[in-house]
Parts: sequence; structure tokens; C-alpha cells
Amino acid sequence: MRIVALSGGVGGARFLRGLVEVADPAQLTIVGNVGDDVDVLGMHVSPDLDSILYGLSGLHDEERGWGRADETWHALETVASLGGEAWFRLGDRDLGLHLVRTQALRAGEPLSAVTGRLARALGIEAAILPATDDRLRTWLDTPAGSFPFQEWFVARGHRDEVDGVRFEGDPAPAPAVLEAIEAADAILIAPSNPYVSIWPILAVAPIRAALASRRVPAVAVSPLIGGRAVKGPADRMLARMAGGTTPEHVASCYEGLIDALVVDEADPAGPLAVRRIVTHTLMTDLAASRRLAETALGAAA
Ligand code: GDP
Ligand code: CA
Repeated sequence: MRIVALSGGVGGARFLRGLVEVADPAQLTIVGNVGDDVDVLGMHVSPDLDSILYGLSGLHDEERGWGRADETWHALETVASLGGEAWFRLGDRDLGLHLVRTQALRAGEPLSAVTGRLARALGIEAAILPATDDRLRTWLDTPAGSFPFQEWFVARGHRDEVDGVRFEGDPAPAPAVLEAIEAADAILIAPSNPYVSIWPILAVAPIRAALASRRVPAVAVSPLIGGRAVKGPADRMLARMAGGTTPEHVASCYEGLIDALVVDEADPAGPLAVRRIVTHTLMTDLAASRRLAETALGAAA
């Protein structure tokens, strides 16, 4: 079974760790969000791709949810003490990856090629592709003004309510993304933030078109449990922009793109335009991630 999974960072990576255990990773293509990518201290950082790379190689920090385990912060402390830009947290171990990626990008290697190389070096069998090799940036419109993603999320602590999400750029799909979607037997959308993790992927117009005209089942997993985000601003964004936090509101973010939505037992019943799959969706450990991935796959079979 050939699978394509769309994914953001932390929630996505948690789900993918289970997925690679219940599906053949050699048949899995992960399409990752790059709307959060940011230039920090002269380096190109792709936070969501990194969460996936670290998650699938087991290098991730379970508790923090992002970055690497056993991390130290000496380089960033030096940056701060020298009056440098220290608002974006980059650990010492993590820095090594950003150095390699940035050098490759500067030498003209496309992001998809670098990502593939990093994944192979980390022993990851699944294909990890950025949605695009082009520049794509997520912007948030808030009552306090418009901000690039990381300025809103990290620097301002995603406190500002969001009235709208915009995507800067006219990106083309990265090589092999459309081919993977065309060849897939099933399409999964990880329990990621719909607006700022999945929509930027869908902002690559040919990707959205390929998903809209799919001939195979597409299943999304809701990132909300009982109407609340496990972490982050997804619930507040849905309440404000979609008008609520029920499964119906989550499904409305993927209109025409999914056939089923996996929701939690704690979520309210009510009308739903797509098939509802009810299960336990909190991924407390690897076994829970595996069960959730199995349920999502089963819904797509
Ligand atoms: P980011 O790019 O690092 O912000 O990560 P994602 O967009 O991939 O994931 C963030 C979303 O994951 C949040 O909306 C969380 O509610 C959701 N999430 C995190 N852990 C879980 C979990 O165990 N179960 C479910 N259903 N959602 C989760
Ligand atoms: Ca992200």
C-alpha cells in the first residue's frame, strides 16, 4: 500500500512515528510544511521538516516535543551574550543540521534534495519531501498587525488572535510530490494544525488540485481532543476562524479533500460531511501513536 502523509511538526511527527511501524516505510512519502521556515543567524531552519527528521530517527526530545534529546544551549547563550539574535531557540546538537542544510542550499542544492540526504544519513527509510523547493512563507493577520509565522509563534508566543492566514510565494511542488500523490493508494493528513501546518502545503496549488481530484481515500486525523488542542493555538484559531472546535469545524478546513476524519471519543457528536472514525487520539507513547496510525490506515483501506 503506497501512502502519502501530509504533516506539520510536532503533532505530525508523533503520528508518523506510529505510522512507520504499521506501514511499510519504503512505501511512505511524507510531504512536510515549509511555511514556518525561517532564516536565523544566517542559517536556513525548517522546523517542521526537522521535527519529522528527529522524530523518525529517534533523536527527538520527547518532553519538549521539538528539537533533539540531550540538548545543550551553549552556542545560543554565546549569541545572546554578544547581543546577537537569540529569540529563536537553536540547540547545540540541532545546529549541526542547520549548518549542513544551509551550506547545501547556498551551493544550489534544492531543499528536497538536502532533506532526502539528511533523512538517509539519519537512517530514515520513508521519503520526506518539502511541499516545495520554492520560497513559501506563512503570514498571520491579527488585531495587532500582520506577522511572519515565527514572529507570531515564537517571538510573540502566539498570543495574538488570528483573523486570517496568508501564504507568500508562488510555489511549485517539489519534485516527486505530485508523482507520489498520483501513485498513492491512500492519503493521510496528520493531526497537525490545519491552518499553519497543512494549509501551507495546500497553498501549493498543484498539490491541492491533485488531492481534490484523488481517486483514493483521504483520511485526516483531528489535532483536537474534546474541542481543545493538545498543545498550541489550533483550538483558538478554529474557534475564531471556523466558528467552533467540533469535528465539523475541523473537517471544514479540508473541504473536498478528505473522505473521513478520525476524532477522539471526547469530541462532540453532530453532523459531519465526511465519515467519522471515533477512537482514542491522544498519543501518550509510541504504542498510542501506532494504534492511531493503524486506525487512520484502516479508515483509508
Ligand atoms: P507544529 O508544526 O510543531 O506546530 O506541529 P503540528 O502542526 O504537526 O502539530 C500541532 C498539533 O498537534 C496541535 O494542534 C496539537 O493539538 C496536535 N497534537 C499534538 N499531540 C497530539 C496527540 O497526541 N493527539 C492529537 N490528536 N493531536 C495532537
Ligand atoms: Ca510548524
